[in-house]
Amino acid sequence: MNDCAGAIRRIITAQGPISVAQFMRIALTDPDAGYYVRRDPISGDFITAPEISQVFGELIGLFFVQAWEDRGRPQRFHLVELGPGRGTLMTDLLRAARVRREFLDAATLHIVEISPRLRAIQQQALAAAHPVWHSGFGEIAADAPMFVLANEFFDALPTRQFIYSAGAWHERKIGLDGDAFSFCVDAPPSPEQSIPFREAVEGSIFEFSQDARDIAGQIASRVVETGGVALIIDYGHVRSGFADTFQAVKAHSFADPLVSPGDADLTCHVDFSALRGAAAARGADVFGPITQGEFLTTLGIRERAEMLKRSAGDYAAMIDSGVERLVSESQMGKLFKVMGLSSPATPAPPGFA
Ligand code: SAH
Repeated sequence: MNDCAGAIRRIITAQGPISVAQFMRIALTDPDAGYYVRRDPISGDFITAPEISQVFGELIGLFFVQAWEDRGRPQRFHLVELGPGRGTLMTDLLRAARVRREFLDAATLHIVEISPRLRAIQQQALAAAHPVWHSGFGEIAADAPMFVLANEFFDALPTRQFIYSAGAWHERKIGLDGDAFSFCVDAPPSPEQSIPFREAVEGSIFEFSQDARDIAGQIASRVVETGGVALIIDYGHVRSGFADTFQAVKAHSFADPLVSPGDADLTCHVDFSALRGAAAARGADVFGPITQGEFLTTLGIRERAEMLKRSAGDYAAMIDSGVERLVSESQMGKLFKVMGLSSPATPAPPGFA
């Protein structure tokens, strides 16, 4: 029995309704009962791009090799992945990067991961690359160029919701209705300065993640300081707007986000314009976001797939269907966006022509 719901209930009983961000934080990362602490989400609840096709990680490997070449082949650099899940993306990336042994020799691999279960799986998958694990991005020393990757990491970061009601913005909170969690609206208007809209239609919801802004800002600072590059991939929107994207996924289906905290993955769509703003404020050059379909097509996903199919035999159809899932507009190709960060006066990252 999972006690995450019990822990949240006790907090609400003692302090009153909590923000959506606080609910997400406890449900996902509570050291005893949090979802990412106890479960391996990627085999049981959802599937991510690198698990769909090896081509995804391979192209990203070639992206980083090219970015490294474009930056004068630094003899030492930090290759950083935030939230690598089962380590599949990094495994495919490193295999593709064997085309440049010097790239692999120059890299120190860093992983930012809070989940002990996933760390154990990453340990097995990536042992040969001798990764160093960190609980936060800020722990990594900025003493060499940083090459940073985050796929489906930002959507898991705690996000607040604000609702426009009776002529003002109010924080949307989560309280108790008997034993069940339910949404409520904070009575006093919110003085939140960061909502870029003064007014909206009654009931509009605006989402705001301070964590996402902070981490994007940290990554941008490090990239600028060290002359590196970063690649952020996630589902989300290009411009800030109104939407309620707080969602739960459990056993490959959408679920009610308030029903089983600790047992379901909770996410919000990523507000790329917020990340862009945070990164630009730290002096980074920001590229995109462009759609995942566009990005992978520019990097040559079709050509790569054709090459693999030549020796794939019976698996050729699987390669095609994987690629289709990654790039087609009705699947991951349009909802998922890709954003690049680099330090000014360095070449644009590959794929953002
Ligand atoms: N990038 C992987 C997995 C995405 S799932 C893939 O594409 O398959 C999200 C990942 O981020 C998991 O590894 C999860 O444990 C990690 N994570 C979530 N919140 C985190 C946080 N606050 N700090 C560090 N890692 C986090």
